[in-house]
Amino acid sequence: MDSGKIRETFLQHFRNHGHEIVKSASLVPKDDPSLLFTNAGMVPFKNLFLGLEKRSYTRAVSSQKCVRAGGKHNDLNEVGHTNRHHTFFEMLGNFSFGDYFKEEAITMAWELLTAGYDLPEDRLWVSIYTDDDEAYKIWNETIGVPHDKIFRFGEEDNFWSMGETGPCGPCSEVYIDQGPEVGCGKPTCKVGCNCDRYLELWNLVFTQYNREPNGELTPLPRKNIDTGMGLERLAAVLQGGCSNYDSDLFTDIIKLTEDFAETSYGLDKKKDISFKVIADHSRAVAFLIADGIMPSNEGRGYVLRRIIRRAIRYGQILGLKSPFLHGLTDKVVDVMSPEYQELNQSRRFIDEVVINEEKRFSDTLFHGLSLLKEEMDSLRAKGQTLIPGGLVFRLYDTFGFPPDLVEDIARDEDFSIDTGGFDQAMEEQRAASQRSWRGSGEEEIPQVYRRLDARGLKSQFVGYEMLKAQARVISILKQGKEVDSATRGEQVEIILDQSPFYSESGGQVGDIGQIGGNNLSIEIVNTVKYPTNLIIHKGTVTEGTISVDDTVQAVVNEKRRKDTAHNHTATHLLQASLRETLGDHVKQAGSHVGPERMRFDFTHFAQIAPERLKEIELLVNLNIQKNLPVTTQIMPRDEAFKQEALAIFEERYGDLVRVVSIGDNVSRELCGGTHVSATGDIGLFLIVSEGAVASGVRRIEAFTGEGAVKEIQKEVDKLKMLSAFLKTTPDQVVTKVKHFMMEQREKDREIESLKARLATKQSEDLITAAQEINGIKVISQEVTAAGPGDLREFGDHIKDKLKSGIIVLGARGDAKVFLLCRVTPDLTDTFHAGKIIKDLSALVDGRGGGRDDMAEGGGTKVSELKHALSKVYTLIAEHSLG
Ligand code: ATP
Ligand code: MG
Repeated sequence: MDSGKIRETFLQHFRNHGHEIVKSASLVPKDDPSLLFTNAGMVPFKNLFLGLEKRSYTRAVSSQKCVRAGGKHNDLNEVGHTNRHHTFFEMLGNFSFGDYFKEEAITMAWELLTAGYDLPEDRLWVSIYTDDDEAYKIWNETIGVPHDKIFRFGEEDNFWSMGETGPCGPCSEVYIDQGPEVGCGKPTCKVGCNCDRYLELWNLVFTQYNREPNGELTPLPRKNIDTGMGLERLAAVLQGGCSNYDSDLFTDIIKLTEDFAETSYGLDKKKDISFKVIADHSRAVAFLIADGIMPSNEGRGYVLRRIIRRAIRYGQILGLKSPFLHGLTDKVVDVMSPEYQELNQSRRFIDEVVINEEKRFSDTLFHGLSLLKEEMDSLRAKGQTLIPGGLVFRLYDTFGFPPDLVEDIARDEDFSIDTGGFDQAMEEQRAASQRSWRGSGEEEIPQVYRRLDARGLKSQFVGYEMLKAQARVISILKQGKEVDSATRGEQVEIILDQSPFYSESGGQVGDIGQIGGNNLSIEIVNTVKYPTNLIIHKGTVTEGTISVDDTVQAVVNEKRRKDTAHNHTATHLLQASLRETLGDHVKQAGSHVGPERMRFDFTHFAQIAPERLKEIELLVNLNIQKNLPVTTQIMPRDEAFKQEALAIFEERYGDLVRVVSIGDNVSRELCGGTHVSATGDIGLFLIVSEGAVASGVRRIEAFTGEGAVKEIQKEVDKLKMLSAFLKTTPDQVVTKVKHFMMEQREKDREIESLKARLATKQSEDLITAAQEINGIKVISQEVTAAGPGDLREFGDHIKDKLKSGIIVLGARGDAKVFLLCRVTPDLTDTFHAGKIIKDLSALVDGRGGGRDDMAEGGGTKVSELKHALSKVYTLIAEHSLG
């Protein structure tokens, strides 16, 4: 049975038992900052278990993408060393939200394994939670599993939790005995052993509790079922192998790695580990990138970067030269696309991200290696052989330099590693990174809204068609608490049964406006919804009293809504132009759409040349001029994807989506925002900046309509002012400035030559004025010089002409004097320039010194300069006599 059939059989089995088939959610848990990645099939259903959300079904079945490479469930270090652990895998699961419980769950699972997949009963074993006699009875009496094939395990093994908080409960697991050849062979080997013999296939969790942030378990409103079975493990078993890597999910990937490495899988234990790690990691990498995660230095992106680097590292063991990984991620796209369209949609993008990261890493390895060598040399010089844990961590953290590589190098050179220090630094980093992804920008829904939402409160959005509507007040909140009414001066949050107010989402700001009625007025300053069914108007009561059940009039500020629509439609045009000009690897990575301006973040790897940027801007403006119609359509999600409508990285879209189209074929995007009805309304589009926001992500900021006109006016004003200054017309400004610059350059040259001539003249005068003292030519004079640099030049000049002698020069600056002394080499045995300057500087209340042939100094007593200079002659006379 191939893996596609295995997946399908699972889904159909549970559909036949009344389950709704639910598509896999993104690997990035939506609205759940408590989790790094979706790590189990139940994650997208968390709110159903907690009773915070209701859906049209109480039974569901899915094949969910999972990543276990961080947080509570982390199998990163197992990968390659077992045949059953992956970072990325698919979890097949069936769920009951307060519907059936243990008995049905166990019966349906057993039926599927034995009848559906035809697994021999005698190879199946089970485990239960220590005191779960109910589960024991079902397995033993109803199903007929013998007493000695049911194991009882404690908290650690048979109490399942999603993370530090969230739904949890006792569980029961089904194992398959793969035979003694597969296992560790120890006499103690049995179910629960760490080896691959008794393979855990399926975990049935009886979800009855919620773990609170303080660790306490509170019973859930109803009992639920959450089960999970690894597709890769099941495929291995059903296809007759004893390793996940032998299943059809991996064959093509390993085959390609063999081609790259020119060696075969299965020949050498150590190399096999590399094959497995690389195969596993390339799947994780492709899927994580397709779900919008980019390599970075924190949070989810950091985990992705580590996985990429780990794969490259293991590739080196096989002799693979980077970049090779992108070839494998591309193969993953081939293999997995039939089930996961998002991969194919991001094919080129995945490729570019991986290549880019591979290049970066080879630089990293280079820098890291030289740093490590330097440190080892200096340790060796001190007679030490222990590499500090802090250094290993720094290499790892800053350079992404794998600690095991450091270990290899250390071993080769008879060094060892302070692993304790490394672990400690790691632990600190881990805590910090947990904090950092907590602040990943995703807001948690405040409890109060969750409760209202769970109670079934709902606001209907009517703002696509109208900006004014009658509505009934269904809830009023004051400081986060529900109240019956609010009066003048109070800050409130108003929830209406229907509203034309657009609530902040999809990058577009929330509407502002007014809610009014009989003697009532509330100024609304923002509208939000979080991902709830509520439209929450935030504002202040400026007149009267508002009470629950009142009928009110909600009026959106029209000007601001229109301005915002200009910018929103413009982001769609911009994205279309970017894709046309730069290529379809361009994907939206974020946006902010306000009334004044817009910001658009997108994936691209290089700076956009100014000429290109102009082309892009022009293309948007041409589409504005064509006054293309903007239309919206609600359609099934699959239909939208078929029409190749652009979606932000696999947002959690419902079954029906809203598609905004511009013209016949200019742009088609999944979008819930408000738009103009024809592109001409936008008027004008003006890019004001382009830059990088992260590796591979760039940002364009732009203005539209009135904002763009104002911005241009500002620029024109500047130009006018400039031309007035330059006493010319705007179109002559550039010529005039160029002219000025040339003139300036000519003048500079003239000044230079005058200076030189002046110096020659001055030095000639000085040389004529030299005095001879005991046969030595001495010059000691005040000159005009701008500073020590000038003085030095001057000194050099005279020295060259004088051939033999002593030169002392002084110059006045602002409230200080500079001194310089030069002694020609033939005299340095007798005279020391440094000493002369030292004595002279003291006379002007300053300091100085230097070499025997050249010294500088100075002081603050400007009035003493003349005296000091005249003193030189006596100094030299005394010295040469004495
Ligand atoms: P194990 O003890 O083997 O690590 P687990 O107890 O961590 O498994 P659960 O959290 O109960 O596993 O997940 C449910 C099922 O998902 C498992 O029974 C197994 O089939 C599959 N599974 C769990 N972790 C992985 C993994 N890292 N790679 C592949 N499949 C996995
Ligand atoms: Mg595990």
